[in-house]
Amino acid sequence: MAKDLICPNCGNSGHAKVVTKGSFIIELALWIMFIVPGIIYSLWRLTSRYEACPKCGASNMVPVDSPRGKKLISELS
Ligand SMILES: [Zn+2]
Repeated sequence: MAKDLICPNCGNSGHAKVVTKGSFIIELALWIMFIVPGIIYSLWRLTSRYEACPKCGASNMVPVDSPRGKKLISELS
């Protein structure tokens, strides 16, 4: 189960959405035309995947049960 997170940027709390950089179409095209860049592109997309705030897209959301998360909640409420 996903942990509740809070966004230090906009104060939005809840679950982060997983953002994958790049495009599936480009990935597919690279795989069809050239295998090696396709592998590299797939690996880059997997390693650059991150959790972002669904509201503002910030990638630095913190768990609500962390000291920083608790401080943010008390500041925002
Ligand atoms: Zn946010």
